[in-house]
Amino acid sequence: MNDRTPEPEGTHPRPVVCSRCGATAECLPLTWTYSLENDTRHYLCEPCARDHIRSIEGRLDPTWW
Ligand SMILES: [Zn+2]
Repeated sequence: MNDRTPEPEGTHPRPVVCSRCGATAECLPLTWTYSLENDTRHYLCEPCARDHIRSIEGRLDPTWW
């Protein structure tokens, strides 16, 4: 049924990358946020998340998504 090889957990730790400014972190900081778009997680660092929240509140079109 499922012949896709599951991704091994822990063997390839991926740093978290802010999808807006490209900042990276070893693990997801509590101050970061992410949204799920088309099964892909988009992470946002703290300053970008703040900006993004303002965009959501202003109902601006997030063209950079
Ligand atoms: Zn950022």
